Amino acid sequence: MSARPRVVVATGNAGKLREIRAILADAPVEFAGLDVAGAVAFPDEGDEYRANALAKALAAASQLGLPAIADDSGLEVAGLGGGPGPHSARYGGPGLDAAGRVEHLLAALGDASGAERAACFVCWAAVVTPDGREWSAEGRCQGSIAAAPRGAGGFGYDPVFLLPQGDRVMAEVPAAEKNRISHRARALRALRAAILEAAGVRA
Ligand code: IMP
Repeated sequence: MSARPRVVVATGNAGKLREIRAILADAPVEFAGLDVAGAVAFPDEGDEYRANALAKALAAASQLGLPAIADDSGLEVAGLGGGPGPHSARYGGPGLDAAGRVEHLLAALGDASGAERAACFVCWAAVVTPDGREWSAEGRCQGSIAAAPRGAGGFGYDPVFLLPQGDRVMAEVPAAEKNRISHRARALRALRAAILEAAGVRA
């Protein structure tokens, strides 16, 4: 039996880890979470998705001595001037959970309608090797913000992210479908060849 090369998934977000593993399920690589690969001290996050994703992957790769992937993602809403953007995880302050952040978002939008509720999920994914090679790619998913949360799937803002067709929010979409259409899926698919190269897998 030949062991598959290990790549660390540098995230503490269980929803992201689950999705990244599913999106890359056909890659001949073992995607190890930080629970298995070890703890990592991450740098403070800045205002740019790509730089944040690279910094997280670099921290994991250099501290654990393994190739590492990371993503930095967020929700951009037209009526909020493109916010909360890279600050989506901390939107509304540190005391809120995901449901609290959704409520905060709905309150900030108030009765805004039409184009002001247009929204986009953005993801930059990065892969970095312990010897400092790095790659990154972007993915986007367009939608709008619903009036109230619904659905039980996904994580974060999925209960209020309305897809352009079918009157469904992302939290009502089966996981396999989210993992075909999401910002994270698009970014990771664009990065797939680089992830295999970083892992030392021959194409
Ligand atoms: P990060 O860990 O700084 O990348 O934070 C990303 C934040 O953006 C998450 O905590 C969520 O609030 C939000 N987010 C990113 N991707 C998704 C998604 O696929 N669904 C719902 N919310 C997301």
